[in-house]
Amino acid sequence: MPGIRAVTVFCGSREGNDPAFRAAATALGRGLAEAGIRVIYGGGGIGLMRALADAALGAGGRVTGVMPAFLRRREVAHPMVADLITTDSMQARKRLMSELADAFVALPGGLGTLDETVEILTWRQLGLHQKPILLCDVAGSAAPLAAAVDAAIAQGFAGTEARELFEVTAGVEATLARLRSLSVD
Ligand code: AMP
Repeated sequence: MPGIRAVTVFCGSREGNDPAFRAAATALGRGLAEAGIRVIYGGGGIGLMRALADAALGAGGRVTGVMPAFLRRREVAHPMVADLITTDSMQARKRLMSELADAFVALPGGLGTLDETVEILTWRQLGLHQKPILLCDVAGSAAPLAAAVDAAIAQGFAGTEARELFEVTAGVEATLARLRSLSVD
């Protein structure tokens, strides 16, 4: 079976307040490019999104940005990403980012990243896809979402299988290693 060829990365449009966040986005972008894995992301030229795309492009990787038209000015479309797909809506963006990927990686981020990550988890819960979802933990960034899922299970709002919808990977190297070990059905 073939390995992972394209990964959608969800990450912040800000850099956060720990330099480890930017370092992780850079290392992930470079590592994906070096592994020959195409990077799909939100197309932004700011924050961790920019660090990810800059690193992947700098390492000779293939980068595809997906951005709704109304956001192009606000999030500053990345000037060096030639493969920038414009969608009509946030929902169309999410759908395309889902379709283009063989797997998903969530880096640290804000509400948008959380929204995208939870939505892709719920799509998997509903059986709309079976693609791996990795929460790349950087300085504890993955803990709140994992705890929210655990709480939903503990309160009887989700079955224990909800914990199988995603994996927490301890940092970028572990994330890359996991991606290299996966195959596409
Ligand atoms: P953030 O993590 O808030 O910096 O956002 C990261 C990315 O998620 C940005 O490209 C946002 O446009 C995007 N995003 C996706 N869905 C949403 C949403 N429902 N609300 C806000 N941002 C979103």
